[in-house]
Amino acid sequence: MTFASHNPPLVLIADDDKVIRVCLRQAMEQEGYRVIEAVDGENCLAMFSKMQPDVVLVDAVMPHMDGFTCCQQIQKMEQHLEGNGTPLLMITGLDDEESVEQAFASGAVDFVTKPINWAVLRQRVKHLLNQVKLYEQLQNANQELKRLATSDGLTQVANRRRFDEYLQQEWSRMQRDRLSLSLVMCDIDFFKVYNDTYGHQEGDDSLKKVAKVLDRAAKRSIDLAARYGGEEFAVILPNTGLEGATQVAKDIQEAVRELDISHSGSKIGDRLTLSMGVASTIPCALISPEMLINAADRALYQAKKSGRDRFCTFEIP
Ligand code: GH3
Ligand code: MG
Ligand code: MG
Repeated sequence: MTFASHNPPLVLIADDDKVIRVCLRQAMEQEGYRVIEAVDGENCLAMFSKMQPDVVLVDAVMPHMDGFTCCQQIQKMEQHLEGNGTPLLMITGLDDEESVEQAFASGAVDFVTKPINWAVLRQRVKHLLNQVKLYEQLQNANQELKRLATSDGLTQVANRRRFDEYLQQEWSRMQRDRLSLSLVMCDIDFFKVYNDTYGHQEGDDSLKKVAKVLDRAAKRSIDLAARYGGEEFAVILPNTGLEGATQVAKDIQEAVRELDISHSGSKIGDRLTLSMGVASTIPCALISPEMLINAADRALYQAKKSGRDRFCTFEIP
């Protein structure tokens, strides 16, 4: 879980001195922030986990739990919640160098001294909030990059790179756990003619529809539908034997039939169809993921040769 920042930003003020709390609140509200208050360290922790503020101003010296311990606890809490590292700003005594050292050691990222210079405080809080926003933008950009790098631009299912990576990963996992791994290779029938008849744009639309069907057929969270290349798709089915994979192939065939896409150039009817090769094995050191792909390819070839719009199976013993 990552905390999305609030708008306007939410500032948590923890200070046992009511007068200081009021002053801090005024200063922060003048900046347009929303403010919540805590009267001691323990109260601060409770408010933090409940409200997930964007920045925390913590007094170093408070009864029950001081600001240093409070900062440490907040950090622990965030590790647990996989939070973003909410900036903690410590408020310390003026000539107290030791407290400043201790503040940073406790996880505070900045400090102001008492008596508070309000201009300094405002600038520091503004700076910290800006950093939070930048960090959030960076994280979003990273996430988007990751998505782009692993998904197919046209159909939005996993791309070939992701397919290769995931097959290898699940191969190792199934080998370790001695479980079956199945692969369904799908190839649209007479798709060249389809493009020639209806145009490339229509072809792209049909690829998207077929991809959606496959994505839906890959029901479990560990199943993966991918565009293998051109008009070929693949579905990786971990912890699934030949029987289960055959059922998935049947479901796909049925769902493609329900798409009911006209294909006047098809030599086996007038609707768009798929041929599939289903392969299954329990991974071991003697065989490789490539052999599973080859087996599915061979089964697919068999399906093409024996009339298309069907699937053939191949089990590697
Ligand atoms: P078969 O039944 O034997 O599979 O015949 P086919 O025509 O489907 O097979 P072939 O491999 O000869 O042709 C595949 C066609 O798929 C060629 C190409 O025009 C089309 N294709 C591949 N990628 C795309 C794409 O991204 N968009 C569109 N519209 N067509 C594509
Ligand atoms: Mg093909
Ligand atoms: Mg084809």
